[in-house]
Amino acid sequence: MSGRARGRVARNGRTDERDDLGFRVRDLRRVPGSRLEEVRVVDPARLGSSSEPLRIGDVAVADAPVRVETSLESLSDGVRVRARVEFSWRGPCRRCLSEASGSASAELRELYVDDPEDYAATAELDEDDTDSTPRPIGEGWIDLAEAVRETVLLELPLAPLCDESCEGPDPGSNPVTVESDTDPAGDDAGAAGGADPRWAALSELRFDPEQDQG
Ligand SMILES: [Zn+2]
Repeated sequence: MSGRARGRVARNGRTDERDDLGFRVRDLRRVPGSRLEEVRVVDPARLGSSSEPLRIGDVAVADAPVRVETSLESLSDGVRVRARVEFSWRGPCRRCLSEASGSASAELRELYVDDPEDYAATAELDEDDTDSTPRPIGEGWIDLAEAVRETVLLELPLAPLCDESCEGPDPGSNPVTVESDTDPAGDDAGAAGGADPRWAALSELRFDPEQDQG
């Protein structure tokens, strides 16, 4: 595997890595059974059709490179694509609401054929072989952008955590007790002894058990 295109494809050489998800498959298809393995590192903006980041709810794909490790295999009637997609996400922690982030990866399996409609009508589709119906090969090219986009959206965490041990809001910065009726410099000192009934109602809502006596 390391013998391929030695010198041109530096192992970590970003300059030699293509940053799109288009694959020329004309040569590959001349020999059924042949394979093409490539790693592409793309800007997540390339996966969307607008300038908005890909997101589901409050969780979005982070502005960090998306790595797509692909394996294309030539079949007699199309190209089978398998890929591992790695990306980063960001969104509010479901417990403490602070910004959380992380990375995720997903497998992609697709089949590309010349005429998807015709193919679906004639071939006995192996349901286990792909995640969806066949996609089109256009002019000798396969564009994985749409498939990668769908894969990423499906893999975004729905309820992220900043940390597995997150215990929710910090009581120090987000007090849940009501401190009011003991204010020594209370503005309504004239009403000493006659506590406002609204405060009384609030004091019953205390969550601090230590002050719940008396
Ligand atoms: Zn948290």
